[in-house]
Amino acid sequence: MRTLRDEIVAEIELDGPMPVERYMALCLGHPKLGYYTARDPFGVDGDFITAPEISQMFGELIGLWAAQAWIGMGGQPGVGLVEIGPGRGTLMADALRAIRQAVPEMLKAVDVRMVETSAVLRVRQQSALRNAQVAAAWHGDVADALRGPVIIVANELLDALPVRQFLRTPQGDVRRVVGLDDDGELAFGFAGTATNARLPGATIIEEPYAADALIARTASHVAQHGGAALFIDYGEEHGDAGDTLQAVSRHRHVDPLRDPGLADLTTQVRFGRAMKVARANGVKVHGLVTQATFLMRLGLAERAAALKRNAPSGRTMEIDAAVARLTGAEAAGQDVTGEGGRGQPGAGMGALFKVMCFSHPSLPAMPGFESA
Ligand code: SAH
Repeated sequence: MRTLRDEIVAEIELDGPMPVERYMALCLGHPKLGYYTARDPFGVDGDFITAPEISQMFGELIGLWAAQAWIGMGGQPGVGLVEIGPGRGTLMADALRAIRQAVPEMLKAVDVRMVETSAVLRVRQQSALRNAQVAAAWHGDVADALRGPVIIVANELLDALPVRQFLRTPQGDVRRVVGLDDDGELAFGFAGTATNARLPGATIIEEPYAADALIARTASHVAQHGGAALFIDYGEEHGDAGDTLQAVSRHRHVDPLRDPGLADLTTQVRFGRAMKVARANGVKVHGLVTQATFLMRLGLAERAAALKRNAPSGRTMEIDAAVARLTGAEAAGQDVTGEGGRGQPGAGMGALFKVMCFSHPSLPAMPGFESA
């Protein structure tokens, strides 16, 4: 069977080395052989685990955040509840359940719009929302989900969007590419130089052009039509960490060039940059806060205590473990590389993961971003 590696090698042989963003886009989104297109990678048996898959409390608290945003918007009808990159659909299912409990009238005022590029994951999301009793539609492109006022959520989406990489040299920027070395293996190089050429004294710059475009598009819509958006991901506010491309397979870091399409590829989100892009498009920006701070302010401890009261004794430890995992420091686990990032078993997400929000300037303070 033809693998994605075969396809990539054939393209390089025909057209020459391909830019890193093309490699990343093919690995994640090739129509047949891409990482997300071809499989469901989440969970303990998969490649990495995300916050909504760790505990129902994560999606529930985000549902309560969305309900507060909706109340802040005056409780108006005709609001789109949009999730971009919903994975297995767990977050939205948990959020809708919490909304039904806390603010049931909201469910009559919103329709759910799921933005997903992967056909496999769409099917999973449809079954996750089967019992949600709310109008839901699926879109392949975020532009189709942006109509009227919207409340947008996205967990671990920005880190999965392709980035450009450059080598900054005294003579100017050179594009980082994926080519073939002398043995015919995939290898990084720089456009116009021999593959694997070493260029001393130069640093790699990452340009998250796809995240920039997504933030600009959603922020300008919110500025014009009202609403709010929440982005949760691993990354930093300041600093340029250079090359942050990483591959994770079966909860371990692997070489990003080894098995194209079979490992998850991500980069660290540059939140300072994303916040600047949002602000430039007319919205009010809130944050950055750590995931731990955000979840605690939204009532994680109280939610965990309530769950524990109703749980069989064997399950209370599980709930404590989930709280620790969602809010703990990253040093807690067996981070195999010490670099952090997505997918290490046991590693706490509380400080590594950050939350940013933007909203229409007329909205009141956003829950989770103001200290009580
Ligand atoms: N939010 C989920 C899944 C995170 S993984 C969770 O927390 O578990 C990234 C998700 O984004 C996958 O569902 C993937 O298919 C989707 N995705 C990747 N690129 C996308 C794009 N350009 N538009 C919409 N969804 C995208």
